[in-house]
Amino acid sequence: MGDFKLPDQTLSAMNDALVENYHNERRGYIGASSIGGSCERRIWNAFHWVDDDTYSAQSIKAIKDGHYSEKVMAGRLRHTPGVRIWVEDTHGGQFSFKDGHISGHLDGKIMGVDADPGVLHVWEHKAVNEKKFNMLVKFVVRDESTALYEWDQTYFAQAQIYMHYFHIPWHYLTCCTPGSRDETSVRTSYDPTAANYYRERGHRIVRANSPPPRISESASWFECKWCPFSGNCHDSKLAKKNCRTCAHSTPLSDGTWRCEKKQKGLNDHEQYAGCEQHLFNPRLVPGEQTDSGTDWVEYRLRSGAFIRNQNAEVTTLPARGG
Ligand code: SF4
Ligand code: SF4
Repeated sequence: MGDFKLPDQTLSAMNDALVENYHNERRGYIGASSIGGSCERRIWNAFHWVDDDTYSAQSIKAIKDGHYSEKVMAGRLRHTPGVRIWVEDTHGGQFSFKDGHISGHLDGKIMGVDADPGVLHVWEHKAVNEKKFNMLVKFVVRDESTALYEWDQTYFAQAQIYMHYFHIPWHYLTCCTPGSRDETSVRTSYDPTAANYYRERGHRIVRANSPPPRISESASWFECKWCPFSGNCHDSKLAKKNCRTCAHSTPLSDGTWRCEKKQKGLNDHEQYAGCEQHLFNPRLVPGEQTDSGTDWVEYRLRSGAFIRNQNAEVTTLPARGG
């Protein structure tokens, strides 16, 4: 989401600096938090490092508020009589799982939840705006068993995936407004059919050699409008050069990547850097292939421009008649 410019130049400059200094680590896997996303192509693009995720100052503040709220809530629950909460495993790290290229990290595990105090639950915390918060309250009052699904399918998928991989049949989501002043919760039970659907969905996206269909053919569709891949999907923007956008790379089922050209496995650093033999996966180029040789491909882009891709370079070719 774009940031509006404040009349106060100091705060405007502060927000610019926030964006400038925010470095989000590039994720190498499909996370439990994204596996239920509405657009499969967006999940595939993120997994293939098609472009960098960009964040507005407003989104960065929401992310940071979420981390802050999670800590505050864990602390409050820890001091609640009858409640036991764990946010780290026995080695002091986050509870995590990995299944090939699918991975995830829990906020924690909790016991002593009022409705079923003797039962262990996955604990997940969200900080959301007041409108979204009030919607959750409404869904829980109506029917708690379906509330999480009704409220947010991405969070529902995340909950099912965690319950599946951690073999815990209940999920307890706490939710706060910004500043953690109001709180509510929702309990959800494990649904093996849903969990397997999302697991399979993740593996299918990993196996796909082409980007899945767009969620909409219109760049002005609300999900596309704010998507970091809008230029790649709906315009002539080329993907970033790295091994994951290269025609010679393959994600293997054990969670690693392999280069068929060099006949070797690729670590994260190598994947990020790519090499001088990088050749775009043709399905990632926003246009049609017009010619090719042993180590080069030519395209006509959506914009009408002709390009040649060879040895990690893209050169614009002279315009052609007809
Ligand atoms: S621009 Fe639209 S179709 Fe493309 S990845 Fe984003 S949400 Fe999906
Ligand atoms: S050819 Fe180079 S850029 Fe392509 S996958 Fe192999 S190492 Fe990566």
